[in-house]
Amino acid sequence: MALSQLARSISESPTLALNEEARRLRERGEPVIHLGIGEPKNKAPIAAVLAAAAKLVDGDIKYTPADGLPSLKKAVIRYTDDSYDRLVAPENVIICSGAKQAIYNLLYTILNPQDEVVLLAPYWVSYPEMVRMLYAVPVVVTPEDGTFHPRLEDIERAVGSYTKAIIVNSPNNPSGVVYDEGFMADLVDFCERKDLYLILDDIYHKLVFDGLTPPNSLRFSKVDLDSAKVIVINGISKLYGMTGFRIGWAIASRQVIEVMTNVQAQTTSCPATILQAAAEGALTGIQSVTDSLRMTMENNRDVALRELAALPGVHTVRPGGTFYCLPDFRAYRGDSVELSRFLLEKAMVVTVPGREFGMEGHLRLSYAGSVRDVVDGIGRIRWALDPHAPEEIYIGDRKKIRDWG
Ligand code: PMP
Repeated sequence: MALSQLARSISESPTLALNEEARRLRERGEPVIHLGIGEPKNKAPIAAVLAAAAKLVDGDIKYTPADGLPSLKKAVIRYTDDSYDRLVAPENVIICSGAKQAIYNLLYTILNPQDEVVLLAPYWVSYPEMVRMLYAVPVVVTPEDGTFHPRLEDIERAVGSYTKAIIVNSPNNPSGVVYDEGFMADLVDFCERKDLYLILDDIYHKLVFDGLTPPNSLRFSKVDLDSAKVIVINGISKLYGMTGFRIGWAIASRQVIEVMTNVQAQTTSCPATILQAAAEGALTGIQSVTDSLRMTMENNRDVALRELAALPGVHTVRPGGTFYCLPDFRAYRGDSVELSRFLLEKAMVVTVPGREFGMEGHLRLSYAGSVRDVVDGIGRIRWALDPHAPEEIYIGDRKKIRDWG
């Protein structure tokens, strides 16, 4: 069939594919534990549900402006003022159908073919694919072994005359690491000196633990936002556990937002009106939802670290935020895709191979589910891998015996 070569070369989203696989297995009645999933279990905040319902009942559901519902943009402006201490104008904001679309529209807006975009491993799976979809080139900077923290000198070495942008995601999916402030200040300074776009994917910024304040790297920019090349991406997916509502946004210079708006107007017209109303409800409603989500995730993080510590040879960098960790399983198997398949087959646990994030030998485990899932899931991994673990285990109501070495 005559399909685009480029489109055919884009890989499927491994995390969405794993969700599908887990769903299929569950439907067959298999006792799957999903440690691959990137979404908390909470219900949507009531303020969001009521706002969406009111809009629906009203029945007046038409296109909104391409850059989003003005009242939602106002709520985003307030959020940005509260969280980043920056009063931005409505022309600095665009609402998109998820942070994912905001990032894609942004990359479409700034990249020419052959431009290079620096990504910091471990990176979110979609960045390299999005960059390639625009005929641009991802350049990966890998941290020193055993750390998930990039070094500025490595980034400086990766930047050349084709470099257009750097994408930073901190707190980081998949490692959970929060980059330190000194590094972020130096990186902002470096990008401003080199006239590079710096994309701050802040989708997890409120999910930080141990009393840390949510990162605000925008404050290191010394330039007025309309002349700056720093862009902040955020959304409601992780902030309120509202992944299915598909609302995210970008904060950038007027020039960037104007072109992003044209791109969005010609592709999706605008994000869905009812879902924008829901996002506005969440942003203007009681904010304790976010705190309780953060506290639940912090507790789950502690449980995950405790359980992983019982697995000999597995080293886990302590996550400072998000709901992921990225333990190093090289003591058991170097090939993470093979290991992830093995764990699904033998132990019915879904994990995401580190190779997808540019970190072979590791598995991303999500602790967004219940404490029970975290304990049982890691318990099953231990049973499958550690020859010193008891040979018998119950998986669902079936007793299984480890008969491999
Ligand atoms: N950035 C990162 C790092 C993410 O992990 C995700 C969601 N998995 C997104 C962006 C996209 O979020 P949204 O659901 O708003 O599209």
